[in-house]
Amino acid sequence: MTGPVAFVTGGASGIGRATVLRLAGDGFRVIAADRDGDKLDALIGEAPAGGVETCVLDVCDRPAVAAAIAAPERLDALVCVAGIYQPRAFDAISDADFRAMLDVNLIGVFIAAQEAARRMTAGARIVTVSSRAAIGGTNFAHYVASKAGVVGLTRAMAMELRPRQIAVNSVAPGFTDTPMTRTMPPDQYARAQELELGGKAADPADIAGAIAFLASPATHFITGQTLFVDGGKSLGGLGL
Ligand code: NAD
Repeated sequence: MTGPVAFVTGGASGIGRATVLRLAGDGFRVIAADRDGDKLDALIGEAPAGGVETCVLDVCDRPAVAAAIAAPERLDALVCVAGIYQPRAFDAISDADFRAMLDVNLIGVFIAAQEAARRMTAGARIVTVSSRAAIGGTNFAHYVASKAGVVGLTRAMAMELRPRQIAVNSVAPGFTDTPMTRTMPPDQYARAQELELGGKAADPADIAGAIAFLASPATHFITGQTLFVDGGKSLGGLGL
C-alpha cells in the first residue's frame, strides 16, 4: 500500500462502513476489519477500486488483531468502531451479558489501540467510537458503562501517547440509522427518532464526517477530546 493507511474495526456495517467509504474517498488506503465476512465482501464492490482491503477478525482476538495491524507497511490512523448493543433492564443484566459487552466495546478497543500505538509514529491518530450513552441512559446499563469506559480509555491513552505525538480522540454518536438501531421494533425506533434533531436519526455519513476530521493529519493539535455528534441532545435543557 502507498499513501496514508487507515485501519477501521467494525468496517462492514453502519457507521464503520460509512467511515471506510469516507476515508477511502479522502485518499486513505483503508483496511476494513470486521467479524462479518459477507458484509465485508459486499463493501468491496462499493469502494473505489483498490482503495479498500478487508480482513475478517474478532476484535477480542489479540493475535488476529496484532497480525492484521502489523501487516501494512505504515499505519496513519486507527478507527475503533466495532461494537455491540443489547437492550436490557438493569435488573435483568447477567454477569455474562455485562462481560460480553465490556469484551467487545471496551477491551476490543484497548487491544486494537495498544497494537496500533506500538507501531505508530509521530503524527498518527487513533479515533474511538463511544456514544452519547456514555453520559447515561436507561435499559442498557452495561452498554452505558462500556461507552463511558471508552471515553476514559481515550483520555488516558491521549495523555500517555502525547509525548509521542499520537493523537487519541473519540466520537460520541447520538441515535444513528444503522443495522444496529434497526434491530429495534419499528414503533420503538420511530419514538426514539422523534426525540432527535429534526425528528430524524443521524445518517452514518454524519458520524463518518466527524471521524474523518479527527483521523486527518490537520487535527494533530486536538487530543483527548470526545466530540458529541448528536444534534445537541447531550446538552440537556432541551425539554427532553
Ligand atoms: P452495526 O451493528 O451496524 O455495526 C457494528 C459492526 O461491528 C458490525 O459490522 C459488526 O459485525 C462489527 N462487530 C461487532 N462485534 C465485533 C467483534 N467482536 N469483532 C469484529 N467486529 C465486530 O452498528 P453501528 O450502529 O454502525 O455501530 C457502530 C459503533 O457505533 C458501535 O460501537 C456502536 O456502539 C456505536 N454507536 C452507534 C450508535 C447508533 O445509534 N447506531 C450510537 C452511538 C454509538
